[in-house]
Amino acid sequence: MSLVDRRELEILADALESLNEGFEHLPETAADLDTAAIAAVLQRVARRMHDNYPYHHPRYAGQMLKPPHPVARLAYALALWLNPNNHALDGGRASSAMEKECVAQIGAMLGLDRPLGHLCSGGTMANLEALWAAGRLSPGRVLASAQAHYTHRRLSEVLKLEFAEVATDVQGRMDLAALESALAAGGVGTVVVTLGTTGLGAIDPLADVLALRERHGFRVHVDAAYGGYFRLAPSLAPATARHLERTNDADSIVIDPHKHGLQPYGCGCVLFRDPGVGALYRHDSPYTYFSSDELHLGEISLECSRPGAAAVALWATHQLLPPVPGGTFAANLARSLAAARALWQALGRSERFFTLAEPELDIVVFGVAAPDAATASEHARTLFARAAERDLHLALIELPVDMVAARHPELVANRATVTCLRSCLMKPEHLDAVEDIAATLAAL
Ligand SMILES: *Cc1c(COP(=O)(O)O)cnc(C)c1O
Repeated sequence: MSLVDRRELEILADALESLNEGFEHLPETAADLDTAAIAAVLQRVARRMHDNYPYHHPRYAGQMLKPPHPVARLAYALALWLNPNNHALDGGRASSAMEKECVAQIGAMLGLDRPLGHLCSGGTMANLEALWAAGRLSPGRVLASAQAHYTHRRLSEVLKLEFAEVATDVQGRMDLAALESALAAGGVGTVVVTLGTTGLGAIDPLADVLALRERHGFRVHVDAAYGGYFRLAPSLAPATARHLERTNDADSIVIDPHKHGLQPYGCGCVLFRDPGVGALYRHDSPYTYFSSDELHLGEISLECSRPGAAAVALWATHQLLPPVPGGTFAANLARSLAAARALWQALGRSERFFTLAEPELDIVVFGVAAPDAATASEHARTLFARAAERDLHLALIELPVDMVAARHPELVANRATVTCLRSCLMKPEHLDAVEDIAATLAAL
């Protein structure tokens, strides 16, 4: 499988010529391209980049890394010849318009009618913004599950908001009884609901948390950085779909186009259901936003300069693969789900591995069968290293021993956590690669 298809470069060259036509009327400027020196440096870069895992290949099945779609990287590159800045319309008129369209499309995908939102560098920045707004609109403690992304605790520290963890059930989902007792203690401002945890791909019970909001009146922030796109997947388990279907009722949502949306880094997105949140961003800097009365994205964003190229890339991707139910994009997500289920089944049939509950999304976590937690952990590390020697790249995860023991009561808990293997099957090609992956693991 080749990393590079030369036809992409021809498409880019043609599109660059069309871009150039828009600016040809300007007077000539002297261009001085030291091609030999640039080529020499690029050769060094190319060789230096060999020191990477093969993220584009299905045998890379470790961390949450998914290659951008060709249309996204070409559109990004194309835009770089102008390098627009989506902070203000002065910096990027066309790319700001494209960003607004993209945000509306993502909002529609998540069931939001007229959300306020924008792109940003990634899920961390997007969550920072959502928690910042939450802290101002609904002061009080921030709650997130023990399997939520570690960023929520840290961002709460940055924002000087009190933070508390809510226990999960043995499948890694926020435990409702634990949430209710935290709410009973009072002082909760915001509950972070993770739709697709980074470790296990577990879906917190959003529908039930929303019912609790009726009684307790807290703010609901949904962190769907990884899992949000799965709202489009036709083949979710009903218990999973029930919660993903309710994103329209969240107060704010974070989703990362650079995770499952086929975008290059950094492309995150934050959305607020109530456009009134925009008032929080007001400032009276004397040196921006003079060019028009139309909305400048910098007026509703914490970051100032941002790559217009990211919006151009996402817009191009939405043209080719609209994020709507029933299209190719949704079908590819279904392939990832099917790949995860198939790998989970194959591993479950083997006596050498143990599995957890059926994956809700496309992350499979499994372990190496052993009498006790310490031995299982050691074997997992060995398997991880041996697989990598055969170009099969997985990831590791530490799970509380109770989570494993709930399904495998015979496991002796001589360690607080069990090291397990984790595989994110995010690429559509993973479905065809499952047999190869399972066979490679069985042979190790
Ligand atoms: C990846 C992830 C984040 C952090 O997002 P970045 O884009 O890496 O900054 C936050 N929350 C969840 C659930 C994630 O999966």
